[in-house]
Amino acid sequence: MTTEPKARRASTPWRPVAIYAVVAGLWIMFSDVLLAGVVEGLGAFVQVQIIKGWLFVAATSALLYALIRKDTAALRQSEARHRTSLESMADALILIDSQGRIVEANRASLTLFGLAAGEVPTEIQRFIEVLDIRRPDGSRVTWNEMPSRRALNGETVREDEFLVQRLNGETLHVSVTASPVITEAGMVPELAVVVLRDLTELKRLERMRDEFLSTAAHELRTPITTIKGYAQLLDRWTPGGHEPREGKAFRILNRQSDRLTQLVQELLDVSRLQLGRLALRRQRFELGELVADVLERMQGVSSLHRLVLHQEGRVFVDADRDRIDQVLVNLFDNAIKYSPKGGDIEVWVSIEAGTGVVSIRDPGMGIPKERQGQLFERFYRAHAGLESDRGGMGIGLHLCEQIVQRHGGRIWFESEAGKGSTFSFSLALAEAAQEQEQVARV
Ligand code: ADP
Repeated sequence: MTTEPKARRASTPWRPVAIYAVVAGLWIMFSDVLLAGVVEGLGAFVQVQIIKGWLFVAATSALLYALIRKDTAALRQSEARHRTSLESMADALILIDSQGRIVEANRASLTLFGLAAGEVPTEIQRFIEVLDIRRPDGSRVTWNEMPSRRALNGETVREDEFLVQRLNGETLHVSVTASPVITEAGMVPELAVVVLRDLTELKRLERMRDEFLSTAAHELRTPITTIKGYAQLLDRWTPGGHEPREGKAFRILNRQSDRLTQLVQELLDVSRLQLGRLALRRQRFELGELVADVLERMQGVSSLHRLVLHQEGRVFVDADRDRIDQVLVNLFDNAIKYSPKGGDIEVWVSIEAGTGVVSIRDPGMGIPKERQGQLFERFYRAHAGLESDRGGMGIGLHLCEQIVQRHGGRIWFESEAGKGSTFSFSLALAEAAQEQEQVARV
């Protein structure tokens, strides 16, 4: 970075030009006076003037030549330096001009796509066709969605993921970052700089991890069910009932195996989600009824909390009842878990902007502002390392988000540390319900 101003300073030609101007000025001023004293006769004086003119032109040309040569050499050196930097980059880099032409593709980009230097298409649109660029879900990408196009419209695109087909048939998973190059403020971008990173190996390892999680969770389910089953049998087989100590032990055994089943189920769900194996079985149902049902089940979990339902009218949705049940259980579970002092947990079921919305408000510990950004990320625990840490795997909210998003809905929250949180999600209304709503409005 610091070499650039220095290079510019070294090539600034003001010094030779100033010396030249002074020498040329003195020469013009005094040469004729000197010549008049030395040369005799008008003819000889004119001839000497012509030679003097030629000498002047020759000296000016020589100076110009030296300056241009020096500047060209500096320019070549700087270009060679930039080219070497581009070529030694580990990430693939492509420069695209405002007409969509590829003006530069470094060596790493050729290696990434398995192309020889002469095989790089000149137009980016042709490039997209040759490499069959698609979204990770296999859908096609239109020209306007391409990061390079978006960058040429002035947008900075960060780590957008795509599948790319190499010429040898291999499929790569790449992350693309694109930024516009704007040389003058307020002008349209002249170039788009596109940087691509190969994520194929990372994605393969992530898939292996998810396959492992899925298999492990699946394998764990059978022994857990067996332990719970035998604990219940033993409980029932004891003639004449239990001693209080035994009764308590069986209750704990029962509760903990339920908890283990739930954890294993969550792990299984999260790996299924990652592997794209979580299917939805949609049906039409009334959201308020489901919320009331879950609320009744959850009421027994804690004697410190009172769960209060507010419902404004009936809200029909077309969704997977079991999965929405799972979302509600997770949100209630968290509301209870993160309000250790107890209090009222209030739930609203309503229709807002043509969608069915459920909001759950707790009076708990809330979430510190600086820890709110990643809340829906897999395995993220906002209270990890704090005194208020309540344990957990950081899977529940990620699952909730994925389930709601797969229904085409939205999930969000508002929270303030020490003042509690409100988690909400919305689902599209079932079609008949939408018609009814419209009729009611007319
Ligand atoms: P877990 O509760 O198992 O850690 P979740 O994915 O359900 O995992 O939640 C992620 C994190 O979000 C929690 O660890 C907690 O820090 C925070 N969180 C979730 N719900 C609440 C809530 N109602 N109040 C405060 N913090 C919450």
